[in-house]
Amino acid sequence: MAHDRRTFLRGACAGLTSLAAAPLLAAQSSTTRTPAVAVANLSERVRVISNVPGNVLAYNTGNGLLLVDSGSEALAPAVRKALGSERVSTLFNTHYHADQTGGNALFAKAGAQIHAHTVTKQWLAADYWSPADNRWVKAPPKEAVPTVTFRERGTLTAGAEHIEYGYLLEAHTRGDCYVYLRDSNVLAVGDVASPLRDPAIDWFSGAWLGGRVDAMDLLLGLSNAQTQIVPAYGAVLTRAQLQAERDLMFKIYERTAALTGKGNSAQDMLEAGVLGDVGRTFQDPYRFLYDVAKGFQSHYTNFGGNVV
Ligand SMILES: [Zn+2]
Repeated sequence: MAHDRRTFLRGACAGLTSLAAAPLLAAQSSTTRTPAVAVANLSERVRVISNVPGNVLAYNTGNGLLLVDSGSEALAPAVRKALGSERVSTLFNTHYHADQTGGNALFAKAGAQIHAHTVTKQWLAADYWSPADNRWVKAPPKEAVPTVTFRERGTLTAGAEHIEYGYLLEAHTRGDCYVYLRDSNVLAVGDVASPLRDPAIDWFSGAWLGGRVDAMDLLLGLSNAQTQIVPAYGAVLTRAQLQAERDLMFKIYERTAALTGKGNSAQDMLEAGVLGDVGRTFQDPYRFLYDVAKGFQSHYTNFGGNVV
């Protein structure tokens, strides 16, 4: 059952091969609906560039900018334009996905030093298979590969700001990190919080729902009621909003772990209504549950389920 949707999609795509222009036209019309790039100031020195296609956090150190994520390759010039004339000295990647790292090469060529978790560097340094897209994704240019890596956590001082960063184990990918501007009390969390899009579990790179809940607990431990929490997509969150999303993820974890342990597939769980009363509308509930189930299968020793 789990493969029905993909089988259907492959069949639908095969039927469109004679209409090769259709996907292109669809892409063009969706481009015209793309929201305009926006800039919001979180403090005198901290701002968020949004709709590129997600969020890029920019902190003015007084001697160059520090960015968290760089936007997509297509929108990186728009990020650069929105930043004005200031040079970018430091760039953190919260994870390897192309909508967070597509601008890496542009900023690195202009002198930025890229920091990321070791696993994120590994994913950016080689071609990789994307099962969701059913294709190989080419590695970006070598300039896009992070040069400063860490495995656990670290600190640095930039201008007046004490910056802390650290690993979010298996939360959205296998190489997620947070970046916390402690003095400004701004916490960038990448796709580990997902108020706008369906929470994504990139199980193929090592994420699973248990890791996501643990990571959200770690982020709650770092933050307080005044913290401005910046997700990869969507508006800035309060700690209370992050707590609500964490509680929702934990409720889904408890239900889906129990059902997966009894041999239920994503389709079984969808039909059992596990998402029906959780208080959130999912754009693609099957896709979410498919990724949750795959994550459990990869981590069955962690939750005690017998899925073999
Ligand atoms: Zn992502």
